[in-house]
Amino acid sequence: MEHSGKHFIAIIGGSVAGSEAAYMLAKKGFRVVVFDQKNLPYGKIEDGLPKWHVGLRNKEERLIDERLNHPNIRFVPGFRLGQDATLDELANQWGFSAVIIAIGAWLDRKLPLEGIEKFKNNGLIYQNDLLFWYNHHHEPNYKGPYYELKDGTCVIGGGLASIDVVKMIMIDLAQRALKKQKGIDIDIFTFEKKGIAQILEDNSTSLRELGVKGCSLFYRRNAEDMPLYPRKGDSPEDLPKAKQVTEKLLKNYQNKYLFQFEPRCIPKEFTEENGKLTGITFQHVQIENGQLTETDEHLHFDTEMLISSIGSLPEELPSIPYNGSYLSTYGEFGHRVKGFDNVFAIGNVVTGKGNIVDSKKHGREITSKIIDDHFADVTFEDPMEEKYFNYFRKVESETGDRLDDLISELESSEAHSDEEILFILKITQKLQEKVGFDGDYQKWVDDHRPVRLEEAQNLSSKK
Ligand SMILES: Cc1cc2nc3c(=O)[nH]c(=O)nc-3n(C[C@H](O)[C@H](O)[C@H](O)COP(=O)(O)OP(=O)(O)OC[C@H]3O[C@@H](n4cnc5c(N)ncnc54)[C@H](O)[C@@H]3O)c2cc1C
Repeated sequence: MEHSGKHFIAIIGGSVAGSEAAYMLAKKGFRVVVFDQKNLPYGKIEDGLPKWHVGLRNKEERLIDERLNHPNIRFVPGFRLGQDATLDELANQWGFSAVIIAIGAWLDRKLPLEGIEKFKNNGLIYQNDLLFWYNHHHEPNYKGPYYELKDGTCVIGGGLASIDVVKMIMIDLAQRALKKQKGIDIDIFTFEKKGIAQILEDNSTSLRELGVKGCSLFYRRNAEDMPLYPRKGDSPEDLPKAKQVTEKLLKNYQNKYLFQFEPRCIPKEFTEENGKLTGITFQHVQIENGQLTETDEHLHFDTEMLISSIGSLPEELPSIPYNGSYLSTYGEFGHRVKGFDNVFAIGNVVTGKGNIVDSKKHGREITSKIIDDHFADVTFEDPMEEKYFNYFRKVESETGDRLDDLISELESSEAHSDEEILFILKITQKLQEKVGFDGDYQKWVDDHRPVRLEEAQNLSSKK
């Protein structure tokens, strides 16, 4: 359907969900402004997907560029909701017909271990901070915190990202030790692809010979309960099969990257000496019918570094209503933000009950079209990469479902007046000028894309 272009919609966050929503609306003739707090609208792809996923990262970022570089979309980088304007201003004062919140989930869930926060960034590192550092610290202008990964690190987690965290630590430890002890310098891409075990064997050495203990992953359930492999269907055989494959996948990762795994452990206490973290005490649990019960058994693990990888929540911003740690929402897909009739939420910012397990048919069609158009040649050597890929596609297909009623409401509602349009154009232009953006999207992202590690090390031919 063609529109007069006189509805303006604001989208906050330009990554997977935001760019997909912007493109869908722009194709229908609506005008869209996409605001993002960063210079680059790539969200978790840029700052969370470990930097060895070169091919996937580049493809996903290119897809976002293709969507946002649409004539009906204006991009405003360096704009942070809650700081540069409130939701109330956008939804009720600036004149947008609708506001779509697509800010993802960036707040690490707090580790439930009383008193541990005093070690934050000095013994305790949260996953989002760690991944940001990991992906960017090689850049000449890097300004974030600096971490030195320690041998004997304890990782608490169990999801997809926690496997990446232990891989990252093991690769870092092995790479540094191999260089220091044997003078052999191997890049992280080769380490990730071949595996640490193979590289050590090729160089006739071992972690023991290099004096590396390695890191350990502590999980509150069993290996088979990890969310590493999806259940393919609802038949009675599907669950045991998924559990079996998960267990096997974890074993393969352990054999390849040589980390330790401790199941059924819940952190209970920490030890310290002279203000420094020295260890974590875990309580063993038993699992019956899916329920965890604490036992009397304890396990103490000496460590100076604890990494918490237990999930991310949406960041709390002023003027956005929350219900506990989650956005307060209503509507069929849990996608309408309470207190507003024109504010919607999509992507990872909608967690908990808002998550759609069964996407509607039309969402699936959108997703398969994206796969046909952009990813026909993608092959996965690593199930982890495929899992990330599936997450991105899931977010896209849910976005389609969530936009249905917004689009039909906009189609039947009165469009903006010329004055209102002019006001939005002026205010967004001012915001663009403030950060020095002249409106040329592709040039802007090309100019702001950081130096990639593979380029810095001249390794591009390897990927
Ligand atoms: C380590 C890791 C873990 C993952 N875990 C999951 C998972 O559990 N579930 C899942 O579905 N997918 C997961 N994924 C896959 C994937 O990251 C997400 O599905 C996808 O990125 C979500 O897209 P999004 O657009 O909702 O959020 P994001 O990719 O996080 O993008 C949010 C965008 O909003 C911007 N933004 C944030 N706050 C503001 C603000 N205040 N003002 C303006 N802009 C703002 C950010 O800069 C960013 O560009 C994970 C990926 C990684 C790398």
